[in-house]
Amino acid sequence: MSNPLPIRIVGIDLGTTNSLIAVAKDGVPQILADPETGETLLPSVVFFPADGSAPLVGTPAKAHLLTDPARTVYSAKRLMGKGYADAQGEAANLSYALSPDRADVATIKLGDLGENQITAPEVAAHILRTLKDRAEAVLGEPVSKAVITVPAYFNDAQRQATKDAGEIAGLEVVRIVNEPTAASLAYGLQNKKSATIAVYDLGGGTFDVSLLRLEEGVFDVLATGGDTHLGGDDFDDALANHLLMGMNEAAPPAELRAAFRVAAEGAKRHLSDALKFDTHIHLPNGDTAVQTVTRETFESLIAPLIERTLAPCRTALKDAGLTAADIDEVVLVGGSTRVPAVRDAVAKLFGKAPHTGVNPDEVVALGAAVQADILASGRTDLLLLDVTPLSLGIETAGGATEKLLFRNAKIPSSAKEEFTTSVDGQTVVLLHVVQGEREMAADNRSLARIELRGIAPMPAGLPQIEVTFFLDMNGILRVSATEKRSGAQTDVRVKPTYGLADGEVRRMVRESFVNADADFKARMLADMGNEADAAIAGATKLLTGYGDAIATAERETVEAALSRLQAVRNTATDHAQVREAMDALDNAGRGLAEVAMSSVARSIVGGKTLDEARRVLDERLKEARPDDGG
Ligand code: ADP
Ligand code: MG
Repeated sequence: MSNPLPIRIVGIDLGTTNSLIAVAKDGVPQILADPETGETLLPSVVFFPADGSAPLVGTPAKAHLLTDPARTVYSAKRLMGKGYADAQGEAANLSYALSPDRADVATIKLGDLGENQITAPEVAAHILRTLKDRAEAVLGEPVSKAVITVPAYFNDAQRQATKDAGEIAGLEVVRIVNEPTAASLAYGLQNKKSATIAVYDLGGGTFDVSLLRLEEGVFDVLATGGDTHLGGDDFDDALANHLLMGMNEAAPPAELRAAFRVAAEGAKRHLSDALKFDTHIHLPNGDTAVQTVTRETFESLIAPLIERTLAPCRTALKDAGLTAADIDEVVLVGGSTRVPAVRDAVAKLFGKAPHTGVNPDEVVALGAAVQADILASGRTDLLLLDVTPLSLGIETAGGATEKLLFRNAKIPSSAKEEFTTSVDGQTVVLLHVVQGEREMAADNRSLARIELRGIAPMPAGLPQIEVTFFLDMNGILRVSATEKRSGAQTDVRVKPTYGLADGEVRRMVRESFVNADADFKARMLADMGNEADAAIAGATKLLTGYGDAIATAERETVEAALSRLQAVRNTATDHAQVREAMDALDNAGRGLAEVAMSSVARSIVGGKTLDEARRVLDERLKEARPDDGG
């Protein structure tokens, strides 16, 4: 008999420009290359032929970017987890069109007729599928589980869309990991006891900076920043424009421009190693032009672009309340950090030599493979955690938000809280799950509305509804609710709706600060409203049961105080007004409470208020049901 073999889990960097797959062998992560071409990077481009034949993925698809732009999808990552409206900002820069047919998920119209449509997660799935096939060919075994990386700023919907893409591709996504965390893992930083890490990621079209705090194997995201439209492509443009000037073309046609961009990208790469390069430009007319470019010239062309990456770094430091001196480790990610001038600028900013030992365009995939290996081996000493960007909670009666999991809670994480009913005989409770920092549920983002049915009819306040939130490793929330007395139960996996716009997390957090005072007041009023409802119900009950036992004048005083509270409860703008009406009702009702007490429960408590009397009555009712748990 042999011990079971752990299932191998692959690590995937699903990039905007390029994607890679890696796997750990004997604890050492390695990139898997295409067995036919030897390529490690898979360009994140998918071409959908008009004749409906199988899509082309990677380098063969890239060839169609110029000839068939409406059917060649690149940068699909920019659309992940966005609805039609949210994707508009990105759509303006893309050469393919989006379809308005679906509002909830960004859908690409393939070709002019728009008869073929495909969603962003489906495009990503083609890339993932190609990587999966590659891994299976290299490893000679089926691959079914993966760790996939996403930018640290990705919200729930974007993470979920990435998971969906994995599932469409036939991969179980066992964990979504932040790209900067993965890069840190590739450098083995998790083995340090604690560290503050700056991850500078300059890719093809995006720039991200993340500040992480590592503490006992847990990575916290302290701050993120960047520019979603700044990267190596801009270096190519700057150099291509420079080279075009040598051609004396006033308005170069698109084809000529494209030829120069291809040449510029090649020259740029060479200039990362060489000080001078003879650039061969293959012109559309078949001729070849040669221009020599020095590293010095290139550096002067891109200096303003590099400068533009530094401001978000400074802002991130400020957001995290840090200075450059607090940074212990600097990690470089993205092909564009191969440019020596970029490295120098980053080293200067943080006052520290960055880690450079691992290929910057492979480092994220390698780190994903490290994480995958840790998960496959079941080592719990290295549970690598992230945090949730926004609080998660339940809307309570009156419209306030009761937070169960707080912003920045570690993932995975769980929390439990007990709720009850506000109306007698209530058999259904609506659980409205919301996300955000505001006190009132209506100001937060609605995630799901769940009904807990089958609660045995009981007086208000008696049911014990236990709500459990479990936020799993991938930031997906599971909500379960049980009414303990009747055993009614419900269990829902909250799949956050697509379409949370970029920057919305930051906006939501900011708004909670701006509105803190008003929110606090609204919350106090809502909570007081709930108390008033209970007081109204209690007084009504006592009036019905014992109203005849007190003098008519006294009864009328109680009734007047009760109607006043009912009115105030609905019109008050300040919780103190409600409090005052409640106190007045309580005072007016002392005699009634005493009568009720003497007849049912004077022996149990010596209380004299309406509220106490109501509670005693409820206790009595509870005792009358001996077989109820709780
Ligand atoms: P992404 O994370 O956006 O998918 P990558 O990390 O793969 O992108 O980076 C791609 C960018 O890196 C491209 O602009 C590419 O030209 C650039 N790049 C790759 N190798 C080099 C190099 N040796 N020197 C300079 N830039 C490079
Ligand atoms: Mg990348």
